[in-house]
Amino acid sequence: MDFFNPIKKAEVIREKLRKDGKYLISKIEGSKQEGGTRKVLDAYFRYKDYMDSEEWFHASEKEIWSPKFLGLVENLWSKPIQEVKELEFQNPSYSAGFRLSGDPRKFSKVFTIQLAGCDYDCNYCYVPKELNVANPKLGKYFSAEEIINHFLLAKENSKEPMNVIRISGGNPTIVPEIIIDIYNEIKKRQLSVYLWIDSNLSTPKYLEDLGSEIKNILKQKNVGVVGCFKGADEKDFAIITGAESEYYEKQFETAEWFLDCGTDFYVYLPALIYGNNVEEKLKAFIERLGKLNKNLPLRIEVLEIIDFPWAKLNMDRAEKLGRPLPKTDQRIVFNLWYNKLLPQFYTQEELDKYCCQVSLE
Ligand code: SF4
Repeated sequence: MDFFNPIKKAEVIREKLRKDGKYLISKIEGSKQEGGTRKVLDAYFRYKDYMDSEEWFHASEKEIWSPKFLGLVENLWSKPIQEVKELEFQNPSYSAGFRLSGDPRKFSKVFTIQLAGCDYDCNYCYVPKELNVANPKLGKYFSAEEIINHFLLAKENSKEPMNVIRISGGNPTIVPEIIIDIYNEIKKRQLSVYLWIDSNLSTPKYLEDLGSEIKNILKQKNVGVVGCFKGADEKDFAIITGAESEYYEKQFETAEWFLDCGTDFYVYLPALIYGNNVEEKLKAFIERLGKLNKNLPLRIEVLEIIDFPWAKLNMDRAEKLGRPLPKTDQRIVFNLWYNKLLPQFYTQEELDKYCCQVSLE
């Protein structure tokens, strides 16, 4: 199996993702990303509804902050993987609600920008491979000003409140200049918007290069970052991402960089664990993250991975390259994480909090 150096890959892709102060954004319309296509706002931007639960939308504000919508459903083993969680409880809606106004439902509909390049090649990726290689023919360059114009138009035409902008990809943190430009544009126009930034944590280099300007932005009240750890150890990391296993460590370095900035930082962990020692691996992962910040494991959302038709293309391709998805039932990972392991490390009171309520101080 051949693995690649993600640092070198990032250098090459980064150059193509920026041109004359503009950023290469994927064209969603007409791509194989059909799930996203249903929610395309125009050819290049889309929205995501973080909550589609009627019960949640009709609950009282007290209920939506209660443990009622936390954790796993009771009859976990009889449910398909997309139904094992009560709710996708860590997401920009809750973070924005907690930090800005109190009601996550005002932040459920999220305007999403998909940067057209990534330095990993995950075997479960939901983005078609061709949209992640910084190919200008499959995207278009937009300035921050143009992006915000599109957001405002979408907001104006939206029946539901649209108060969140998510910078996604691809991996936005190899071109973090987009974060500064979009944040400054929001500020210049005095918009009341929450900014949610995705990162695959591959490197802190380009963030560090931007010095104090980005650090100041990343600790603002209306900004949150979620870093996605790929795999619970270096071997799993290499199989999942296609990157050389030694770069597993970079994820911790990047997470630490965000924490040092005072960022409102969250973690995703796809429920993909290989081998027979799943429990030991997850426990070691909790301990490792706990060294960065004792409460960081409580800020993790384990992600269910679904073989959507467009993701299936990446899964099949990776399998042919010798990087199949693990055989471990994802429900085993969920059950271990939420029902067995976290309770060994934290009190019930701590477990009853939403990730955004967990302090990192
Ligand atoms: S899952 Fe995320 S990090 Fe992995 S290849 Fe896709 S966009 Fe990149």
